[in-house]
Amino acid sequence: MPLLVMKFGGTSVGDLDRIANAAAKVKREVERGYDVIVIVSAMSGKTNELVGWVEKTSPLYDAREYDAVVSSGENITAGLMALRLQEMDVPARSWQGWQVPINTTSAHGSARFLSIPRANIDQKFAEGMKVAVVAGFQGLSPEGRITTLGRGGSDTTAVAFAAAFEAERCDIYTDVDGIYTTDPRVSSKARKLDKIAFEEMLELASLGAKVLQTRSVELAMRYNVRLRVLSSFEDTDETSGTLVCAEEEIMESKAVSGIAFSREEAKITLFTIEDRPGIATAIFGPLAEAGVNVDMIVQNISEKDYDEHHTGAVTDMTFSCPINQVARAEKALEDARAAGKIRYDELIIDTDVAKVSVVGIGMRSHAGVAAKMFNALAAENINIKVITTSEIKISVLIDRKYMELAVQALHDAFGLDKA
Ligand code: ADP
Ligand code: ASP
Ligand code: MG
Repeated sequence: MPLLVMKFGGTSVGDLDRIANAAAKVKREVERGYDVIVIVSAMSGKTNELVGWVEKTSPLYDAREYDAVVSSGENITAGLMALRLQEMDVPARSWQGWQVPINTTSAHGSARFLSIPRANIDQKFAEGMKVAVVAGFQGLSPEGRITTLGRGGSDTTAVAFAAAFEAERCDIYTDVDGIYTTDPRVSSKARKLDKIAFEEMLELASLGAKVLQTRSVELAMRYNVRLRVLSSFEDTDETSGTLVCAEEEIMESKAVSGIAFSREEAKITLFTIEDRPGIATAIFGPLAEAGVNVDMIVQNISEKDYDEHHTGAVTDMTFSCPINQVARAEKALEDARAAGKIRYDELIIDTDVAKVSVVGIGMRSHAGVAAKMFNALAAENINIKVITTSEIKISVLIDRKYMELAVQALHDAFGLDKA
């Protein structure tokens, strides 16, 4: 029997009517002859509420109990979805992660899959069950504790099941009708793409496009899962939405395919550090040990300093990291200074920044993308604070208040509204 994985995100199961609407889509696929594995998220807002309850109860919470609480939203929707399908005469049952079992590492809050044994679910399909409804986002650690996969993790559950059960396709049903050139909530000119390459989606997701969790794209790429994003609120067929696929399947060769942004960035500058071999490791070593994910880095040109504190050349170092890691970063640097491992005159934290990135596999063969990007931002008087590049992306850090303007300007400059 051919098998499909269908994943419904939070808005798509946000109330009982929406669960019924999603169940009707599942039933249609069963009538077309598919066995279906449905992966559900928690109802929209539920996970945030659960996270809030944990933080209020215990600010420095035990991550194992965080996962026990935060994973529970998905249990509710899995059960409700199975019940709704049964009401529609579709043989269905629900599975929590531990029942499958979805085996993961014990990295609570960001666990990774170890294995998904098929036997239990396969046996039920063999007995006539048509739909297995599986709670997304959760798993079971080797110690027998409940784990979660990180925010947005139900996408990754869906792709992992598609790989494990060799599904014909993994359909991600959400509140937009596909993947756009940029977030359609930020730019009304955003254009829906028919196809996007794995590498491009991987960059967009890791640079802030929340439409797919980054690890879901990684897994789809590794196991060659046909991954599609489409609307749960519209009538859909095999041609709907956006297919995430291998580069070879794509004809378009624009330099830039999409624009991503992230408001969750902060910029930290250390003024007047010594300019000597080993200074970068003296700064970034303690940050890494403290679990700070440093992203962009710039070091100023060295200058001679003649004051009484410094004998050699000095410089400044700037880096960016996720905004919720600023306190940890500050402490790690202050501790390193107190221990005499680094010296700096001043540490300045700027949390009013945003990262805007242009992404495209076409960049490998098109020259002048960076110049065009900087030109478009200059024309809007937007100052660039930090720049990073890779083979298929260019990111800039700018004042957060200009983020939307920058996205619009870049969308226009690269002609993304036109096919
Ligand atoms: P779900 O709850 O279904 O998992 P998410 O909120 O996680 O949905 O992801 C869908 C959202 O992703 C959309 O509502 C949209 O605002 C946002 N988004 C960001 N970038 C893009 C993009 N390039 N294309 C489509 N949607 C995007
Ligand atoms: N409910 C989880 C979250 O909000 C997982 C998901 O929706 O993918 O992050
Ligand atoms: Mg999501």
